[in-house]
Amino acid sequence: MLSWDPMQAPAFAESNCRLCGTTDCPAVLDCEGFQVRRCPSCTTLWCDPLRLPEDESEVESQAGSEADAPAIEDTYLSVDDTIQRENNARLDLIRDLAPPSSHPRLLEIGCMHGGFVVQAKRAGYEGHGLDISQRAVDWAAEHNPGMVSFGTLDASQPDDSLDVVAGFNVVEHMDDPGEFLDHVARVLRPGGIFVAETPAQESLYHHVLFGRAKVLQGRGSMEVGMHPGTHIFKFGRKAWTNVLRGRDFDVLDVQAKSTPLRELLAKTQTRGLVFAAGIVGFGLAQRLTGLGNRVLVAARAP
Ligand SMILES: [Zn+2]
Repeated sequence: MLSWDPMQAPAFAESNCRLCGTTDCPAVLDCEGFQVRRCPSCTTLWCDPLRLPEDESEVESQAGSEADAPAIEDTYLSVDDTIQRENNARLDLIRDLAPPSSHPRLLEIGCMHGGFVVQAKRAGYEGHGLDISQRAVDWAAEHNPGMVSFGTLDASQPDDSLDVVAGFNVVEHMDDPGEFLDHVARVLRPGGIFVAETPAQESLYHHVLFGRAKVLQGRGSMEVGMHPGTHIFKFGRKAWTNVLRGRDFDVLDVQAKSTPLRELLAKTQTRGLVFAAGIVGFGLAQRLTGLGNRVLVAARAP
């Protein structure tokens, strides 16, 4: 079994908070091959190391591309109508805060096939999307030409050039969300809107997994909903509020969301019936308790 050895600091080790700069943040979970750290100031959680060594990541990516496991890009296409409904709810929120008449230029980071960008364009925005999946960008070039480019938010995007920056289920995958948010603040014009959706700490799923992991700590592999290289960071309603206020954003809306059951099932279809039943049970319990697994946050740039 791989166990955490602080004497052998791996590449991508990170004990400091990339969101607010707090140093030497304590570990709250000892998992197989990594720790989960929590920032005492902004409450963000992350995996230390942020990524596992190159060879392990390669093994994982090979496993993920086996013929019987559909690519994540195809999974999203298979539940397109469900995602369109989610996108409409996101657009309703953005329209209430930043109507296209006053906030026309919208950029989505991690846009996959560009479905949200297409819907945003229909709603009146000048929308464009960026993604680092070549497969998704190629699909978009064929079906939604000119809407999606390969890339992510970086120094090439001019200052004060956008009215809305959106990122749904992407910020938790980044190596440095702090640097990303610095770019968001830079590229939004004053008063522009940032909208993001990520997994949430204030969820039933999170409480159950972390509670179980604390009891079973050190006894082998455990699903904690976070892993180096995939779900690296975990925010929540409190963490997003702290992080964005720390960057002088005005937090306008922070709400609990639940992944639609169809989307959950599509993403877990290769994991077996018992796993799927558990996911559906969690999904229903989260709806009943209001402890949704994700958080949708909207904030106004300074
Ligand atoms: Zn912090």
